[in-house]
Amino acid sequence: MSESMTSRRSFLGKSLAVLAAGGTLAACGKKESSGPKALACNDTTGLSDADKQMRTTLGYVDATTQAGKECSGCQLYKAAPAEGQCGGCNVLKGSINPKGYCNSWTAKAT
Ligand code: SF4
Repeated sequence: MSESMTSRRSFLGKSLAVLAAGGTLAACGKKESSGPKALACNDTTGLSDADKQMRTTLGYVDATTQAGKECSGCQLYKAAPAEGQCGGCNVLKGSINPKGYCNSWTAKAT
């Protein structure tokens, strides 16, 4: 085998290794779909400082940390106009996530 054939084979072998590595990296960088994006209702644009402070004081969070206690099950929740949208609250100003929570959570009357 001539030296030029050896070096051509070596070059091709290295090139394939680089392509394979690139393909592996590309596959690693691919993000898996994690389903629909979570609803965000924490934009306080337009609220007064006092209203923003009230959200903080009552510990409002966009995703409840209390099992079985979500805004949608709270007596003070104002339902969203449509499924997948933010609702409101009779205590806190601004948009409220149906899956949110705050320290004023009160079970809906049955
Ligand atoms: Fe949600 Fe709190 Fe308003 Fe109840 S009072 S709807 S838990 S933000």
